[in-house]
Amino acid sequence: MIIVIKPHTPREQVDEVLLEVTRLGYEPRPIYGAEQTVVAAIGDERTHHTLESLMVLPQVEKVMRVQKRYTLVSRESHPEDTVIDVDGVPVGGTHFTMMAGPCSVESEEQLFATARAVKAAGATILRGGAYKPRTSPYEFQGLGKEGLRLLQEAKKETGLKIITEVLSERDVEHVAAAADILQIGARNAQNFQLLIEAARSGKPILLKRGLSQKIEEWLLSAEYILAHGNPRVMLCERGIRTFETYTRNTLDLSAVAVAKLESHLPVIVDPSQGAGRASLIHMLCRGAVAVGADGLIIEVHPNPAKALSDGQQQVDFSSFRKLMEELPPYLAPAGKVM
Ligand code: PEP
Ligand code: MN
Repeated sequence: MIIVIKPHTPREQVDEVLLEVTRLGYEPRPIYGAEQTVVAAIGDERTHHTLESLMVLPQVEKVMRVQKRYTLVSRESHPEDTVIDVDGVPVGGTHFTMMAGPCSVESEEQLFATARAVKAAGATILRGGAYKPRTSPYEFQGLGKEGLRLLQEAKKETGLKIITEVLSERDVEHVAAAADILQIGARNAQNFQLLIEAARSGKPILLKRGLSQKIEEWLLSAEYILAHGNPRVMLCERGIRTFETYTRNTLDLSAVAVAKLESHLPVIVDPSQGAGRASLIHMLCRGAVAVGADGLIIEVHPNPAKALSDGQQQVDFSSFRKLMEELPPYLAPAGKVM
């Protein structure tokens, strides 16, 4: 850490700071200038007491962090891309993975028709919410355990792997028994107890970025999962809350580029929640590929107008098929294969 002392501070007061730095477990290296002194505090910021508390001393102007707060998710600790094996389906590296399916599991007919359609179009992972985080308590909350059962049946028939959201710690065990990937939703991105419990399940985890989460905070949420013994994490950019009203959220493709530079974890883009409009999905998918995403998660419904959740952003079967035909020429320049 770097501690900047206020200009014209007498030497005794600088010494007070040095003493405090030593007491907190760091080795102080002062650099005395004509007017101002700067102290470099040598020590590991992740394992030592934070020096930010020094800000309470009247002679201290600023305390600055030098090290990043995350280690396990950082590319520095693991230069190669991580490739996650989802029950035989690779995610990350040169692979481009398509996850698709309805926002919510609504019925056997709806789920099976969608599973067959996305499989035929080339998707390898079936999405579908059994537990839904709805803004209003009066909206469809999902089929719960029946939804999980249907997902497992759809997996049996099609061979698609299953991704589904886990909303609470209480549900981790039975959702993990049915799913190949646990989805942690945007609203739970900083529910640290849920992250820890999900980590303990040992299942691959797709971690959505919170609605107002800074990239550093998103990476720190992922760090929680790795720090609790589960390295199989996929980051998912799904749009953040901004002043814009034309789109439901603002899909932050620059965050995808940053996450790819900063971390070795695969990054998946969710343009469905990101834009909230079916008409934008194809364009945003192309953008996601170009910026280095490792895959997409797309909401697909047999009849979006009749959907019980997120109808406005779900694409129908023919639109999804068209998307799958249109993507390959964009994958090669990005160094990816589907
Ligand atoms: C979803 O995938 O349907 C969903 C609710 O996602 P998010 O948590 O990103 O809003
Ligand atoms: Mn949705």
